[in-house]
Amino acid sequence: MKVYFHPMFYEEYTSDPAAESGRMEAIVSEIESHVEFLDCQPATEEQILAAHTPEHIEKIHQQGLYEIASLAAGGALQAATTGLKEPSFGLVRPPGHHASANSCWGFCYFNNMAISLYGLRASHGISEIFVLDFDLHFGDGNVNILEHETWIEIINPESLNRERYLDRVKSCLLATRADVIAVSAGFDNHLNDWGGLLHTDDYRRMGNWVSEAAQRNSGGCYGILEGGYNHNVLGRNVLAFLRGLEGEAGQD
Ligand SMILES: [Zn+2]
Repeated sequence: MKVYFHPMFYEEYTSDPAAESGRMEAIVSEIESHVEFLDCQPATEEQILAAHTPEHIEKIHQQGLYEIASLAAGGALQAATTGLKEPSFGLVRPPGHHASANSCWGFCYFNNMAISLYGLRASHGISEIFVLDFDLHFGDGNVNILEHETWIEIINPESLNRERYLDRVKSCLLATRADVIAVSAGFDNHLNDWGGLLHTDDYRRMGNWVSEAAQRNSGGCYGILEGGYNHNVLGRNVLAFLRGLEGEAGQD
C-alpha cells in the first residue's frame, strides 16, 4: 500500500500529544516492512483556501505552523488521489478533524480531510463521498466545514458499547453508495489509549468493511491519521487498519 509520509513529521512542532516525539517512529517501525512510503508534497494555498478563510491561514502562518500543516494537508490530498485507484493512507501530522474554516483546536490546524475532499472533487468530479471518522473525539471541524455539502455524508460513530459501535460502522458502510470512502483514522479509542474501547483487530475489521464498500461501489478509499497517543499500541493499530483496507478479511 502507498503511504504518504515526510521526515518532517518526525519533528516536535508543538508541545501537544499529537506532536510528541516518538509517535511517528512508533508507527513507521511497525508498518515499514508492509508498505511503500512516498513523500508528501505540501498543499497549495489555493487548495487550503477551499476549506479555510484567508484569516485562518494567516493565523497558522503567524504560529509558524504553515509549513508542517500544509505538508499534512498535501499528504492527505495525495492519499485521496491514489485512493481512487488503490487503497492508500496519509501518515501525516498535525491531525485535522478539529479544524474548522476559521478556527481550530485539539492539536489540529488545517482540516486535512476537507482539503483532500475538495481537491478530489475539483480534480476528479467525485459525485458522492462517505466520511467515516472513528477517532475517539467527534470530528467537529469535518462536520462544520462539510456538513452543508450534499455530496458528503459523515459518520462519527459514538457508543460506549464495543459491539454496538462496530455494528453502527458496519451498517453504515453496508448502506452507502458513495464512490469514495474517506476515513479520519484516529486510534485514541483503543483499549490501551484514551478511549479504552476498541481492540486492535477492530481496526482491521473496520478497514475491511471500508474496502468492501469501496469495491462494491466500484469506487476508491483512503485514510488519514488523526489521533492516537499510546505509542506502545499505535503502530499495531495503524497496521491492522491498513491490512483491513487492503482487503484482509480475517474472521468477522
Ligand atoms: Zn481524538
